[in-house]
This record gives sequence, C-alpha cells and structure tokens, in this order.
Amino acid sequence: MDSPTRSKSEAWLRYADDLGLGPFYLDRAAQSTSEAAAPPDSTGAASFAEQRVGAAEEVSRVSAPDHSSPELSAAAPRRAPEPPPVNKPTAPPTFVAAAPAPSLFESTDRIEGDTLERIRTDIGPNCTRCKLHKARTNVVFGVGNPKAQLVFVGEGPGRDEDEQGEPFVGRAGKLLTQMIEAMGLKRSDVYICNVVKCRPPENRLPEKDEIATCSPYLFRQLDVIKPKVICCLGACAAQTLLNTNQGISRYRGEFFDYRGAKLIATYHPAYLLRNPNAKSDVWKDLQKVMALLGLQPKRR
Ligand code: URA
Repeated sequence: MDSPTRSKSEAWLRYADDLGLGPFYLDRAAQSTSEAAAPPDSTGAASFAEQRVGAAEEVSRVSAPDHSSPELSAAAPRRAPEPPPVNKPTAPPTFVAAAPAPSLFESTDRIEGDTLERIRTDIGPNCTRCKLHKARTNVVFGVGNPKAQLVFVGEGPGRDEDEQGEPFVGRAGKLLTQMIEAMGLKRSDVYICNVVKCRPPENRLPEKDEIATCSPYLFRQLDVIKPKVICCLGACAAQTLLNTNQGISRYRGEFFDYRGAKLIATYHPAYLLRNPNAKSDVWKDLQKVMALLGLQPKRR
C-alpha cells in the first residue's frame, strides 16, 4: 500500500473508531466451532475448583484462544497495576500493546441517569438493528445483581439462552456457575451479560457489524453497574472491551483499566469444556479476581 493510501486508511479507521464502529479487523470465521459436535457432558455437579484439571468433557461454540501474531489495533489496552500476586505466572507476559491512536472524541461521558431498565427498554424486545434478529427467539439482555462488583461478559447467546432469554444457562453456563461458586459467590451476586444480545445463527461467532451495533448497549450496562472487576470470557468480549484484535492468549490473566474498572480476560467456559486442561489457567485468573475483591474460595 502506498503511503498516502495508508495514511488515508489509518485516518478513516481512527474516525470509525471515534464513532464507535470498530474493531474492524477480527478474523472470527476461523474460530467458529459447532455446538452440534459436542460429546456428552461428563462433569456432573462437581465444583469448578475440583475439576479444574479434570477429565475430557464436551464441546460447545466458543472463541478459542488465538495464537496468531498481533496486528495493530486502533486503541491499545492499558494495563492496570498488578493486584496482590496469587499464583504468579512463571513466564513474562508476551503482550505487546500497540501505540494508542489519537481520538477525536476521547470521551468518558456516561449517560446521566442511565439505568439497566432504560437500556433494556432502548433495545426493546423486538430489536431489528442488526441481522441477528432474523433467527433469534429472545433478546438476551443480562442477569444478576445490578450493583455487582464483578461482571462476566460472554460472547452471545447460544440455543438455550435464546430459548430462555437468560445468558449462560446451557452447558457452558453451568460451568460458569461452578466457576462463580468456586470463588465463594452465588450467580445472583454477580452480573452476567454478553457482547451481542441475540443468538448468532448456528452458534457462529458474532460478526463485526453485529458487534458494532450491539456493543454500545454493553458499554452502557457496564457504565451503569460500575463493577470493580470485569471478567471477559473469551476473545470476543476481551477484544470488544479492549478495542483490540490481538489474540486472548497474549493478555489472558492480566489486568487492564476499563473506565475505572479492572478488566481481566480469561478463557470462555465453552472452551474449557473442550480443553479441560485450561481450567488451571482459568482458576489462576479467577484467584486474581478473588484477591482484588477480597474473596475466599468456597470451602469444600
Ligand atoms: N456463550 C456465551 O458467550 N454467552 C452465553 O450467554 C452462553 C454461551
């Protein structure tokens, strides 16, 4: 690409980011797996902490960790100061933050008087803002404590969530519940939501335009709840909130600042169903969150 074209493209991307239209460069197609291919669950009701290096389990849709090389993002995640060390990683972090791009509207404004109910009403039960509306049954807004100190953000509803109108109620959701309980919390203590509120057909990954359309409602949810910690479940949530296209493996388990909250990305529970060995990594991440929130693990 010649240099005037490159400068023009970069300026356009920055402008689009300022309008909240990014990120543009997520290659999601390669990451999609089908829920239909899932073997039966063998986890039973054992707690997450007990099974974190457990037996082979099941498959579900999820954005798998991405080991691809980093590309520049329009805005680089800003690392937060380290919390008290818990199971300190042995290898130094490999994440290389891209240079922050100047923004026309570097605004931290929150919508005055915004509430979760107002956001729910704004989306509406019959939202048609993106093409996901065509195949969905229910808009899946979010659930939990509106004053939660900890918010989990997933990717988008699956079949069970679409049917029931509640996030993380399927097999991956059951594992998430175990993870929450292993932290000494109940599901009702935290808030759980997704980047997109409608189920992508065939459980494919949400596409860029769908994320661009729906993520402003997630941003508003987080602004209203003002949690201490945001835990991104998988690459889609992390890339959306950190405005990066870098693979989750590069920054998983590290804390970043997100509008006053500490944001940490960990693997999606559906990824853990396929890769139970990754549970130990996730447990380390959750322990860091627990240290920040002063939580004790559930006693057996
Ligand atoms: N996976 C997600 O990312 N979100 C859900 O609500 C369910 C499964």
